[in-house]
Amino acid sequence: MLAPVRSSLPPRSLLVECVELIARRRGPAIWSHVVVLAVPLSLAWGTDAWVVTLTLALTIVAYVLGSAVHMRWYLSRPRDEAEARRFTRTLGVQFVALGLLYNALFIYQHLHGITRALDYLVFITAAYCAATAATFQHVRWLPLSFIVASIAPQLVFHLTLGTQDGYLIAGLLVTYALFMSRTVGHLHKDSMERVVLTLELETAKRRAERLARTDALTRLFNRRAFEERAEAAIARAREADEELSLVLVDIDHFKAINDAHGHPTGDAALVAIGQTLHGEARPTDAVGRVGGEEFALLLPDTGERGARAFAERVRHAVEELVVTHEESELRLTISLGIASLGPDEGDLVALLGRADRALYAAKQAGRNRVETAPAPT
Ligand code: GH3
Ligand code: MG
Ligand code: MG
Repeated sequence: MLAPVRSSLPPRSLLVECVELIARRRGPAIWSHVVVLAVPLSLAWGTDAWVVTLTLALTIVAYVLGSAVHMRWYLSRPRDEAEARRFTRTLGVQFVALGLLYNALFIYQHLHGITRALDYLVFITAAYCAATAATFQHVRWLPLSFIVASIAPQLVFHLTLGTQDGYLIAGLLVTYALFMSRTVGHLHKDSMERVVLTLELETAKRRAERLARTDALTRLFNRRAFEERAEAAIARAREADEELSLVLVDIDHFKAINDAHGHPTGDAALVAIGQTLHGEARPTDAVGRVGGEEFALLLPDTGERGARAFAERVRHAVEELVVTHEESELRLTISLGIASLGPDEGDLVALLGRADRALYAAKQAGRNRVETAPAPT
């Protein structure tokens, strides 16, 4: 249970966000190759080209398995900017390899007399270029590298044929590549706008949630946030049958301090005491400002003895504290009331009530003291 000042998450970078979207969309794209491979395998069936066809097909299956492992590896680990960049670079190499492999597969078949192989290659290229543009547009050069790698080899092949058909198909391939590149550009721009907007909204939402739970002066939990955490901690402690203590803190004669030094100095004293309490608490404790000059600490896994030792330490730390603000220099003391969770006690209201009575007893007994509430009856 961390106080808000300790729990600011590092902002996720734009690239990490984009690459995560890409990685998550990749599964179906990878496995579609296994289905598409039925085309060259059935074309080669019963011809003497089947050995090389099969070799190339198995190479693509190896590519598919490698890509699946690569994707799972990326998604299963903490991702940062460097990791995201490495992922996209490897992905780029895979895309180029895939484009070249499909070209090799079908051009080989064509050269071995499988007449319709190049028609299928054009069709598969068109489908994959479109799918790649629509799936990986967040990192623009990824679909572009696939488009180039899958179109360039067959383009060269058709040009070298020197036939009218060859020139026509080459012209169509170039037109298609240019059209797809423009589409990638548009898709990229739109999707980036969406990602940036989503990130900005998330950041604003996190900030608003944090502010709603934070006391503006001391940056500790405010009363509402403290009670929420305390209720959850009590439920957990009861379930696990663990100890838990609540400490209420009230500054002694604070009204007189305000009167003598002014309200701004009083505020500075509240901040200094808040910092002292936060400094003494463990990361798992919750520290809140629950009233004007009242604070509360929730100590999970701590019984009455531990809470008393902790409260004495805090009391002593505040006693040692010197608050300086503008011309003023002042010392303060606090009174503390402790209540530890009883075996049949289940709610925060009862625990707060007992801690408050203990705090009152500490005030009555002369202030600058710790008092412990008797066990609930
Ligand atoms: P006691 O030892 O009995 O607790 O005496 P006290 O003067 O601290 O008690 P009381 O509850 O009468 O006074 C609390 C004072 O805390 C009154 C108010 O002026 C002051 N206070 C409450 N909130 C703030 C704040 O946000 N800033 C400042 N500077 N003072 C505050
Ligand atoms: Mg008070
Ligand atoms: Mg007071």
